[in-house]
Amino acid sequence: MAETITARAMEKKKFADFTRAIVDNGYQLYGPAIEGREAIIAQIAEQADVSFDYRNFKMSPKDLFLSQSEVLCRFCRGEIVPDAAADDGRRVLLGIRPCDAKAISLMDKVFLQEPADSYYKRKRDNTVVISAVCSSPEDTCFCTSVGGSPASTEGSDILLTDLGESYLLEPVTPKGEDFLNRFSSLTRNASKNEVREKERIVEEAASRMQKMDLEGIAERFAKAFESDLWDTPSQRCLGCGICTYFCPTCHCFDVTDETLHENGRRLRTWDSCMYSLFTLHASGHNPRPSQRERTRQRFMHKFSYSVDNYGELFCVGCGRCIKHCPVNIDLREVIAP
Ligand code: SF4
Ligand code: SF4
Repeated sequence: MAETITARAMEKKKFADFTRAIVDNGYQLYGPAIEGREAIIAQIAEQADVSFDYRNFKMSPKDLFLSQSEVLCRFCRGEIVPDAAADDGRRVLLGIRPCDAKAISLMDKVFLQEPADSYYKRKRDNTVVISAVCSSPEDTCFCTSVGGSPASTEGSDILLTDLGESYLLEPVTPKGEDFLNRFSSLTRNASKNEVREKERIVEEAASRMQKMDLEGIAERFAKAFESDLWDTPSQRCLGCGICTYFCPTCHCFDVTDETLHENGRRLRTWDSCMYSLFTLHASGHNPRPSQRERTRQRFMHKFSYSVDNYGELFCVGCGRCIKHCPVNIDLREVIAP
């Protein structure tokens, strides 16, 4: 019989002690901070009373695993020089929404398949992910249409639920269980009422979200490759790349070498399939010559090629691409049956 993992609970007044204990135990703690009217992920250096009263982070947490720009190695006179900044140390990522945690599990499929990407793997292995149940989805959210839920546990080590007076802390992985055991003096066993209250919060949040039937979308898109489905979104698209940079699952990157005299460094930097230069050949030929082909690529990659390659949709329904597109292109209008 499978071992039952017990849900824990923590009184809110103890949470600042929890964050301090995390930092005192040598972890870098990343969690929510409010910047203007938006929540962002920031490093929390000291004892902090964290609030989970926000919809979602403006930027997804993917930067903590696949940096916007990172040095892969340095070189001098043709010799590789080890990068002193390569070790990021142990980290706790606190308060990301379950959609973003699920996105990390999708990124794992890309970067941890053999041969694993050592840069990504090191950061992933060193990070404990504590996601926070989403109790108030935005009108751009649609996680339940793409196999997610406001309490999805994929990609999380611990799932936290804000119950008002206390937090429910459910370990998801052995890593999460070990982590919670370290701080067991700050927690107690959760009551049945607390677990039921979490279920009520999740049901209520899910009921507020639009649900689309996306069964068979991979085949539908494959058949629509030459159709006019891509015309409307691509005619408005500016090719700014915002949708891909905000997306928690988009992971295309470029690798460039920068040199000065005999020294140099190799950089990996985010790139975007929405840019014309992304596929421009040295010959001048571009296999995706217009925004129509680029828009199609973005949709096909997320809803068809990803199913062929990994058996998964590479969209978690976070809604960022809808919310931040400067010309209001709504992905749901393209994917809805
Ligand atoms: S954010 Fe909108 S305009 Fe910019 S590339 Fe994406 S779809 Fe096009
Ligand atoms: S495609 Fe849009 S809604 Fe889907 S995960 Fe990316 S940003 Fe979120």
